[in-house]
Amino acid sequence: MNEPYFQPNESGHFGPYGGRFVAETLTSALDQLESLYLQAREDESFQSVLAGHLKDFSGRPTPLYYAERLSEHLGVRVHLKREDLNHTGAHKLNSTIGQALLARRANKRRVIAETGAGQHGVATATVAARFGFDCCVYMGSEDIERQSLNVYRMRLLGAEVVPVDSGSRTLKDAMTEALRDWVTNVDDTYYIIGSAAGPHPYPMMVRDFQRVMGVEARAQFMDAHARLPDVLVACVGGGSNAIGLFHPFIEDTAVRMVGVEAGGEGIASGRHSATLVAGREGVLHGSKSYLLSDADGQVSATHSISAGLDYPGVGPEHSLLKDLGRVEYACVNDEQALDAFRLTNRLEGIMPALESSHAIAWVVENASELRGLDVLINLSGRGDKDVQTVAKCDGVEI
Ligand SMILES: *Cc1c(COP(=O)(O)O)cnc(C)c1O
Repeated sequence: MNEPYFQPNESGHFGPYGGRFVAETLTSALDQLESLYLQAREDESFQSVLAGHLKDFSGRPTPLYYAERLSEHLGVRVHLKREDLNHTGAHKLNSTIGQALLARRANKRRVIAETGAGQHGVATATVAARFGFDCCVYMGSEDIERQSLNVYRMRLLGAEVVPVDSGSRTLKDAMTEALRDWVTNVDDTYYIIGSAAGPHPYPMMVRDFQRVMGVEARAQFMDAHARLPDVLVACVGGGSNAIGLFHPFIEDTAVRMVGVEAGGEGIASGRHSATLVAGREGVLHGSKSYLLSDADGQVSATHSISAGLDYPGVGPEHSLLKDLGRVEYACVNDEQALDAFRLTNRLEGIMPALESSHAIAWVVENASELRGLDVLINLSGRGDKDVQTVAKCDGVEI
């Protein structure tokens, strides 16, 4: 576990990526968070309390499901890691439970978060209610309009949803505001970041909390087949569901790993969120990583049909894994993701999130090359939240 590539170094870098690019006030807060986390990681009682909440509150372990009809249709043996069956409907809760326990350990009374589609906001509001924290969620006013259902869910859970009107009024701007809140209220506030991104130690910490998916999937596949799958596939927004699945397999060099980004309306259109496929090195939200930016270094406006992938940055560990060639990064466009969404509904009776549909779509696109192989897809969340978006694409009012 201590190979240099698989853990950040002392300054929080994964190779040239990661680190801490933050205001002075946050440096000591991040130092404190790092030591709080490293102590908790080694503390058996913390780990057993965490495991208890994952089991009884979230419903883990999630099944590894052989998708029989999809497999037959594609000629590929498709196994779905069912994160859609987690409480609140996605993998997000794996990390928010862990971080809520850290907030409690540090005697904070207030938690804050940023959210795009509202999934991370809902997961944070959920643990805030469960553990009795005040909760404030920053959300771009554009996203508040697009995701009214999740906004109301957060309010029902007792959270305050704060509209962010700056910039593109989406996730990137919400995260900027959340960091600003944290600078001001760092004494009594814990910032629950939603992906394996942001300044050190967040990329390492969120990844560690999300590794439970890969650890389970590895054991489940081994139990059933006495060997490892041939290919792992996961969608990549900030990168937390992908790194959580991939990390326990990194040393298994025979296992091919593919991260699928949002190609939006196509790379050539400029309307996409394919950071690793089409971006370059830059600094955003406290860490260095691949980034979508223009020639002047301005962060680009992004687009994806799935709000959870609509982010111009990506977690730093993925940038290193790309450079090393250990993980391949590809993208599929909005249409392909929609087709995969429909196909999985019709053949499996499972409604995947539009984010997860990108991972499925990559397998559909590459089925002939993958013929006969065992492909394990991270079904990062359920698609109920996306029904309105899909209906709109169909020209249907609901
Ligand atoms: C938030 C979200 C994602 C994207 O975030 P990652 O950090 O890249 O995993 C993917 N799928 C679902 C269902 C999500 O809610």
